[in-house]
Amino acid sequence: MNPSTIHALARPEVSPLPAYNAGLSSDAVRARYGVAEVARLASNENPFGASPAVGRALAGLASQLNHYPDANSTALRRAIAGRVGAEPGQIVIGNGSEDILQMLCLALLSPGDRVLTQRPGFGLHEIFPRMMNAEVQALALTPALEFDLDAWCEALARGPKIAMIANPSNPVGCLFDAAAFERLLAATPAGTLLVIDEAYVEYARLAPGFPDALAALRRQPRPWIVLRTFSKGWGLAGLRVGYGIASDAALVQLLDRVRTPFNVNHAAQTAALAAWGDEPFMDHAVAQTVQMRAALEAQLHALALPGLRVAPSAANFLFIDLGRPNGPVHEALLARGIIVKPWKEPGFEHFIRVSVGTPDENRRFLCALREILGATP
Ligand SMILES: *Cc1c(COP(=O)(O)O)cnc(C)c1O
Repeated sequence: MNPSTIHALARPEVSPLPAYNAGLSSDAVRARYGVAEVARLASNENPFGASPAVGRALAGLASQLNHYPDANSTALRRAIAGRVGAEPGQIVIGNGSEDILQMLCLALLSPGDRVLTQRPGFGLHEIFPRMMNAEVQALALTPALEFDLDAWCEALARGPKIAMIANPSNPVGCLFDAAAFERLLAATPAGTLLVIDEAYVEYARLAPGFPDALAALRRQPRPWIVLRTFSKGWGLAGLRVGYGIASDAALVQLLDRVRTPFNVNHAAQTAALAAWGDEPFMDHAVAQTVQMRAALEAQLHALALPGLRVAPSAANFLFIDLGRPNGPVHEALLARGIIVKPWKEPGFEHFIRVSVGTPDENRRFLCALREILGATP
C-alpha cells in the first residue's frame, strides 16, 4: 500500500513525532561488528542487576500465568506508600515511569496547552506532550552545562499547564539543589502541575545539596507528582515498573481513567515488591556505581585530551563533550563492542552519554576512548 494512504489516517500531530531512539541491541552489535563481548553503556542500566530476592520471587510464577494481574497493584502501592510516607491512594504504578508520563499527557493535555521542559532532556518529556498537540517550550542549558535557574523561574511564572523537571537531568546529570528547588516552587503559579522526574533519585540523594523534593513539595500548595522507577537503581529495567507519588489521590484517579487496566503485569509487580524489600542490595549497588562514576570522571580528566569536557553528574552516567563530532567516535566504539549514546540534537553533536558499567566495562571504555581520540585528532 502507498505509505501516504496510511499517513492520511493519522492524527496530524502523530506523523512528525520522532521514533524513540533506543539504540542498537547487544545482538545487533555482535552480528554487525563480529565482537564477542559487548559493553552496554547506552541506557543507564544497573550493571549489578536486581536483588537475588527478585529471582526467588519470580521462580514461583510459572503456575499463575493464566490469571490477570492485580489491576491496582495493591501490595506494591501499599509498600511504596509506607516507605515514602504517603497514602496508597496517592501512589500510581506504571509500566515504567514512561507509562505514567504518557498517562499524565493523555489525562491533562488539550491542543495548545503549554508544557515546559529542558533540552537536551528526556525525549518523552517532549514527545508525549507533542502527541497531544500541546505546545512545548524547552529551555537551554547554561554554557557550563547547568540548569538555567533564572530562565526556569521566568518560564514557570508564565504558567505552563505542566512543567516536566528531571532532577537530576538526563542526559547531563546536573541538578537543581535544595535552594534552587525552593526558587522553582516559589516561581510557579497555583495552576501549574509540577512533574518532578526523579528517575535517578537513588544515586542523586548521595550528591551534596540534592533536595528532598517530596518534603519541599508537601510544604506548598501547588499540585505535583514525583516520578521514580525500578529501572535504574533497583536494576529492573527489563520488567518495566515505575511509580508516582502525587499530591492528591484525585490526580491518581484521573490517571486511572486513561491507563490500560492491567498496565503492570504480575511478574513486574512481584519483582518490584521483592526488590523494594531488599533496600540494602540497592544501596550497595548504587554506592559502588557512584564511586565508579567519580573514578571514571577523574580518569577521563587525566587523559588530558584537548577539547574533552565532562559534565558533573549526580546520576549513573556521564555526559561527555568530545570536542569533535560524535558520529565517528560512536562508530569506533561500536567496532570495539562498546555501546554508548551519541547525542543528535543541534548543538550537542559533539557529546556522548556513557553509563557507568562494571569496573571491567569502564576500563574498556576508557582504553578505547584513549585509543580513538588519541589516534585521530
Ligand atoms: C530512564 C528514565 C525514565 C524511564 O524509566 P522507566 O521507568 O524505565 O520507564 C524516566 N525519566 C528519565 C529522566 C529517565 O532517564
